[in-house]
Amino acid sequence: MFVANISFLNELNNLLPKRKRSQELTISFKGRQSIKHITESLGIPHTEVGLLIVNEQIVDFKYLVQSGDIILVHPARPDLDSLSGLFRDGKLTIKPRFILDNHLGKLAAYLRMFGFDAAYRNDYQDDELAQVTVDHNRILLTRDRQLLMRKTIRFGYLIRSLDPENQVQEIFRRFDLTGQMTPFHRCLRCNNPLKPIEKETILHRLQPLTKKYFQEFQICPNCQQVYWKGSHYEHMERLVTRLVAASKNDGL
Ligand SMILES: [Zn+2]
Repeated sequence: MFVANISFLNELNNLLPKRKRSQELTISFKGRQSIKHITESLGIPHTEVGLLIVNEQIVDFKYLVQSGDIILVHPARPDLDSLSGLFRDGKLTIKPRFILDNHLGKLAAYLRMFGFDAAYRNDYQDDELAQVTVDHNRILLTRDRQLLMRKTIRFGYLIRSLDPENQVQEIFRRFDLTGQMTPFHRCLRCNNPLKPIEKETILHRLQPLTKKYFQEFQICPNCQQVYWKGSHYEHMERLVTRLVAASKNDGL
């Protein structure tokens, strides 16, 4: 029988059952097991782990745990993500393109609103989500821990909140997105980049007040949805202000 001690740091504790939070846990197991397997058997998907330290040495997920090991598991953050390769020197190494699990439609619309490429369908099967994540180097966003624990998933994030606005804040914080927004450039319905369009060519599609008060329009070349800086835009601007304020409070 092997016995080791493991501590989860900071926000990773929220993913543990209450009785196991904020303390050193003693684990015992038969046979040699990788640190990745042990971490995940305690309910923490590998995508949530940024740094592993065993007996004061940095290790990777393949490390086989020895009896007597003292293990520290740090959460993944932009400045602490040595394991996935998603960040280098605090900067993302890939474009922040996402794929979202079913039931995250509102979050997908918010991400698109901020200009981020967010693939979403409400009928993706788990296998499809995993495949697209791998094939297209997208970051998988889900509330399903088992899905994130799949071996093939390299980039992902476990959504904590149930509230879409808080979910956006989580994503912005986790992937340091505040400086990368290009609001109003992507179709909320189908994720396609928008194109400017002359008002005259779409006059027949506009309500009288829209026709009167707005001059600049964009269209989605895929679904033909027309956008202008109306109430949607004001809502988005308020959300941007709140997000930036929240980021500052985090010290990011
Ligand atoms: Zn569209």
